[in-house]
Formats: sequence, C-alpha cells, structure tokens
Amino acid sequence: MLMKSYRKILWYEIPIRRKLVNITPTIIECLNESGIKEGLCLVNAMHITSSVFINDDEPGLHQDFEEWLEGLAPEKPHDRYRHNTFEDNGDAHLKRTIMGREVVVAVTEGKLDFGPWEQIFYGEFDGKRKKKVLVKIIGE
Ligand code: ZN
Repeated sequence: MLMKSYRKILWYEIPIRRKLVNITPTIIECLNESGIKEGLCLVNAMHITSSVFINDDEPGLHQDFEEWLEGLAPEKPHDRYRHNTFEDNGDAHLKRTIMGREVVVAVTEGKLDFGPWEQIFYGEFDGKRKKKVLVKIIGE
C-alpha cells in the first residue's frame, strides 16, 4: 500500500501567560481527516516557549505541574534570568524544555493507541499571542 502523509497547523492564542490545554479531541479530528489507519502521529509545539506533552487530564495534577515548574523556574523576578534583556520569558524557555517539545503516538486501526489515561496537552508558558502546533501523521 502507498504511504499517506498528512500535515496540519493548529493555532492557539491563550489569553493568559500559562495554561495547559487538552488538545486530544482536535488531534483525533486530524487523524480522522487524514484517513490513516496504521502509522505514527507526531504533534509538536512550533515555539520554544510552549510544549506538547502527554499526561493525565486531572486538575490537581495540573496545579502540581504549575507549582513544580514555578519552583524550578519562577517567572519573577524577571531580572533573575540572563535571557531577559529585551524579553521577560526566560522562565518560559526553561519550562518548555522540561515539559518537552513533542509527542509521537502510534496509530492503530484508525485510533490513537494510548495507554490508560493518556491525553495530549498543549502547555503554554508565554501566552497572550498566537502560536502554532504542528500535526504530522504518516502511514497507510
Ligand atoms: Zn525568549
């Protein structure tokens, strides 16, 4: 069979600085649109201050992520980061790095082949502007 390839850009404009968004339903729509039944689905942030990662959609855990990341790389004071000369997002670069750039999910029988409770999240760490996420699905 011929390998198919699907590419889509998703746009997110989060009105606050930091937020985690469950984008699983959108990725399932992309997979259905692609018509691919067996293959691989890559989802990656196209900015270096936001992440795509997989975890549980549980509000307590999301608060734990926020507090853990603020403990590791607090947003303020802005002048604690050497990066913050013309920008104030030094913390967001560090948060993005630890939360990851991308996920790859197997596609089996036309579905995302998740483990129990796995969901795909967009992690915004420097919001209030339009940012892109790339979805690439290959297979047959
Ligand atoms: Zn920066």
